[in-house]
Amino acid sequence: MRVAFLGLGAMGFPIARNLQREHQVLVWNRTVAVAERHAREHGTQLLSTLQEAAGADVIVTMVPTSHEVDELVEVLHSHLKPGSLWIDATSGDPVMSRRTAERLAGLSVEFVDAPVTGGAPGAEKGTLTIMVGGTDEAFRRAEAILRPTASKVVHVGDVGAGHALKAINNAMLGANLWMAAEGLLLARRFGIALPVALDVLNAGSGRSNATENLLPSRILEREWPLTFKLALHDKDVRIAASMAHQKHLVSPMLALTSQMFTAALHDMPDADYVEVVKYAASMSSEEW
Ligand code: NDP
Repeated sequence: MRVAFLGLGAMGFPIARNLQREHQVLVWNRTVAVAERHAREHGTQLLSTLQEAAGADVIVTMVPTSHEVDELVEVLHSHLKPGSLWIDATSGDPVMSRRTAERLAGLSVEFVDAPVTGGAPGAEKGTLTIMVGGTDEAFRRAEAILRPTASKVVHVGDVGAGHALKAINNAMLGANLWMAAEGLLLARRFGIALPVALDVLNAGSGRSNATENLLPSRILEREWPLTFKLALHDKDVRIAASMAHQKHLVSPMLALTSQMFTAALHDMPDADYVEVVKYAASMSSEEW
């Protein structure tokens, strides 16, 4: 199976390497040097032009947003092979994905949205959870391709359902991060040391991924690695807020989270997503 992989960023680079273990992977990246390095280090095949990707049986996209996916579809659509499968692993917009799926269906090309969760460490280890939206048949095809990079591949519904669930997941992550920051700042103002607060919260019912995994090394050891851009996380929270608007769901926490993330992004355009807690602290003239 020839798999063309487009977008070798923080996530795409290790995922394409994992897929190469079971498939013949052809790589393309906007910055060509990255694709050249991938081919050199992992034995993948370098595509000299983007158009050549259309000759593959499967195309996987892993770019920032559905807008970049649409740009790639625009370049490739007239060259695509009928019967091929487009797997969009980007954390995208479900409404845009449905439009893209319809456009490709007209060319007899199947589309699934297949965003991932597990972050850069999960991509490195091949232990991602992947949520797939599409037909039963397209899911079966996508699952067989994605297995080498995932612990779990779940069919969550029709096209768009994967992107919807991913946006919901990241909106919840965002709200948890923000609330954890407020709780820890409040504990410290009350005279409770941060290590003590974290120790107790993580043994209690207030714990979350934020308190257990994300915040201890950042706020205790002051290590702030760039693993997932705040700009991308903000995009996910905005997608979830827009879904709630379209579905007429009253969701004040989601709306507030979206507003706070956008405010933080204006202040720190190049930050990592966990650094949103620095913005939360700055609102009370605090630092970690
Ligand atoms: P990165 O910014 O590290 O990589 C983005 C990739 O997209 C790069 O290969 C970049 O190419 C390429 N790209 C950017 N703009 C364009 C364009 N206009 N046309 C073609 N290619 C383009 O992002 P991530 O890998 O972190 O994220 C990718 C997706 O995965 C996002 O949707 C993100 O939300 C999602 N995600 C990220 C996670 C994480 O922890 N990082 C976790 C789960 C999902 P170039 O090298 O030229 O810049």
